[in-house]
Amino acid sequence: MKSDVELVSTGSELLSGRTVNTHAQTLADKIRPFGLRLTRDTTVGDDLAAIADCVRSALARVDIVFVSGGLGGTSDDLTRDALIQIVGGGLVQYPAALAALERRYAAMGRPVTDVARRQTLILDRGEGLLNPVGLAPGMAIELSAALVGGVSNPAKKMIFVLPGPPREFVGVLEKEIFPRLGKMGLPVFQALENLLECTGLGETEIAERLEKIGLPTPEIEVGYCAAMGQIEVRLTVAPEHAALLAEKTPAARAALGAAVYAESRIGLEEAVGRLLAVQKKTLATAESCTGGLIGHRLTQIPGSSAYFLGGVIAYANASKVRDLAVPQALIEKHGAVSEEVARAMAEGVRARFGADFGLATTGIAGPEGGSAAKPVGTVWFALAAAAGTSAKHRCFPTTRENVKLWSSQLALDLLRRRLQGV
Ligand code: ATP
Ligand code: MG
Repeated sequence: MKSDVELVSTGSELLSGRTVNTHAQTLADKIRPFGLRLTRDTTVGDDLAAIADCVRSALARVDIVFVSGGLGGTSDDLTRDALIQIVGGGLVQYPAALAALERRYAAMGRPVTDVARRQTLILDRGEGLLNPVGLAPGMAIELSAALVGGVSNPAKKMIFVLPGPPREFVGVLEKEIFPRLGKMGLPVFQALENLLECTGLGETEIAERLEKIGLPTPEIEVGYCAAMGQIEVRLTVAPEHAALLAEKTPAARAALGAAVYAESRIGLEEAVGRLLAVQKKTLATAESCTGGLIGHRLTQIPGSSAYFLGGVIAYANASKVRDLAVPQALIEKHGAVSEEVARAMAEGVRARFGADFGLATTGIAGPEGGSAAKPVGTVWFALAAAAGTSAKHRCFPTTRENVKLWSSQLALDLLRRRLQGV
């Protein structure tokens, strides 16, 4: 058997925009320890022929197919019938599931209906998988070559069928399917992966730099995952190409230069925290437009009290004057969103807390308050230290929430670059 698996997620509500399909994410994450990898997820509506078609195509590509949803007793629950079209046979009552159902209904003091009872039917060519949190059981169906009509690969194949509700999906997966996967003697797909967590460079810029040093190669796959103000670059190889990965990773790191802030999956707040801890330096923040977000992010990291002394959310001008000793005249002359005020805020908070570094943000998060000279999204950043104060300005023409997120990211990066001397 191969270690690639596919998922067929059934349910018209998954295609209607009402429900987010979470099964692919759950499954991919949970089967990784077994050395399995999800290579495709097909979402299909409640349509008998379409479900059968999707399962059949998946079986032509991989040896293990997971099918989710459509196991209830209502007219839109068609998964069993679709599977019969592929493997043949008929339906039988699954006694353990029926007994559980009868107990549940008795506890509720309600008579068991036919629709309810229908949920406990399974394919006679399959094995029932008890549902630890719901009523509809799952199924494990083993296919020998003879049973897979029209599927070319003669190897043994498995279909695992799981209920749609996420809690039940996970319940059947963990309780019933994991023990079976463990016994199947599957080949383990153990990809080797190196990470480069980047900030301050766009995805296309990163890709161009990597292309210049010949990445990707046929052996090294390059994957990107972009989030707010940060991009994860993944270099992945099969185990036999470990040496090549070890050789190319430093080259990739050099090509991306100062943009790389970590080589493991951590956020900037953690990278900054580690640098502060190692260098035995302390930090205080003066936050206007970020409203405490930088402090929040820093304090998400256990042990941050060793380097984060505290901060002031100096949102109103009066607070900048009273709490950070920003001269009133400076605000009147340059405006609260200005290089001068950002610098004064950083220096003020550094002095007030007796910290090695003072980090400040002041900006216009919007949607109101912009002007031609200072449009919405304009943010000034300043970093004060013993050696002097530096300031930087950026404009993020986006939503209020995103201005705050981007700003916290840029502010942390300002400090990260100073600490790394880049
Ligand atoms: P039931 O017995 O409740 O009908 P079922 O096995 O027939 O269970 P579905 O009818 O397909 O499952 O789905 C039931 C509910 O589970 C859906 O309305 C939806 O809220 C949720 N669900 C189903 N599939 C998914 C999915 N892929 N991702 C997230 N939620 C899902
Ligand atoms: Mg249903």
